[in-house]
Amino acid sequence: MTGKTHIAIGVASALAVAPLAGAPLGVPTDVVPQAIALVLGGMVGGMLPDTDTPSSMGARGTRRVWAALAVMTAALLMVDHVRGSDLALTLASGFSYEQLAGLAIVVATCAVGRASGHRGFSHSLVALALVGYGVWMLCRPIAVAVAVGYASHLALDLTNKRGAKLLWPWGRPLCLGLFESGRLADWTLFVLGVAAAALMVATRLQLIGPMSTLPSVGMPAAVMALPW
Ligand SMILES: [Zn+2]
Repeated sequence: MTGKTHIAIGVASALAVAPLAGAPLGVPTDVVPQAIALVLGGMVGGMLPDTDTPSSMGARGTRRVWAALAVMTAALLMVDHVRGSDLALTLASGFSYEQLAGLAIVVATCAVGRASGHRGFSHSLVALALVGYGVWMLCRPIAVAVAVGYASHLALDLTNKRGAKLLWPWGRPLCLGLFESGRLADWTLFVLGVAAAALMVATRLQLIGPMSTLPSVGMPAAVMALPW
């Protein structure tokens, strides 16, 4: 599946499933923070497994984030050096040991995934558990949504011809052979994902009434997303 389909289905899955986990697992209970956390988490979870491919949307996005962080860190260190301040240290001390450890787990999981090749380690159940736990340590409000988005990515990849090695490194790739990336089914899933996500966000924010108003929100959103 293409990156945008993984994002759309990841967000829709997170919006549908993650609220069931509720406050005990860190999902915000207020409507607006919850919608933001689920959309953001679903996007990240939907993209993360494909950071094992340099040309993927997830890998390109990750590279941009790292590049921006590297530039900002270098700029802060230079300012600190010139002015004799300790801005970088102050910023770093804003993160707890638990959050830094969670970030390290996520980065290490992605790095092993990259080293093991496309649809290797990053498409396994172990990677799903590691990323879910790492994000839970790093940023609890989006953790369940990231895990659900990640799981939706693995489930989608099972449906196409290459499949995924869920028990990596053991066993053969599991593959249902139903769809091909970039074909009609891929586009259909993308449109359905966008429509479902837009409808669920609009319903939660009470911008519209019950689900029966699908044509008023879901389909226009899907049509607008098509050229993307
Ligand atoms: Zn994938």
